[in-house]
Amino acid sequence: MRTMPSVLLVEDESSIAELIAVNLRHNGFRPIWAMDSASAERELLASTPDLILLDWMLPGESGLTLAKRWRSDPRTEAVPIIMLTARGDEADRVAGLDAGADDYIAKPFSTKELLARVRAVLRRRTPNRRVDLCRWAFCRSIRPRTG
Ligand code: CA
Repeated sequence: MRTMPSVLLVEDESSIAELIAVNLRHNGFRPIWAMDSASAERELLASTPDLILLDWMLPGESGLTLAKRWRSDPRTEAVPIIMLTARGDEADRVAGLDAGADDYIAKPFSTKELLARVRAVLRRRTPNRRVDLCRWAFCRSIRPRTG
């Protein structure tokens, strides 16, 4: 059995982290919660996730700093990053994308949109894993064509 896609969730607000984790789990992902940069680094040493959901505003190092560092680390450079941010203005979005984020989502966000972005980023990054992701996460309503 293939493992479920793992998502490293770096978010210091436990209520938001809990909401996201519940939704990820319910949609076939395996969330790993890290509440600050130090825990995130520990989790990354333990295993490489399929995707990182990264809050911008964190205690200590910001999500922006982490995104830049992970992009230049051979171990994490290929892991897609979606930034979660309350900062919605253009300059901040550009900074996030320039730091190496694949996408961003502004708080407050709908969990449906968040999941759709997670799936979209994983589709773009890992086309050959599509079938596996499909099985777990987003193709439940699709039936095989018969005749
Ligand atoms: Ca935060």
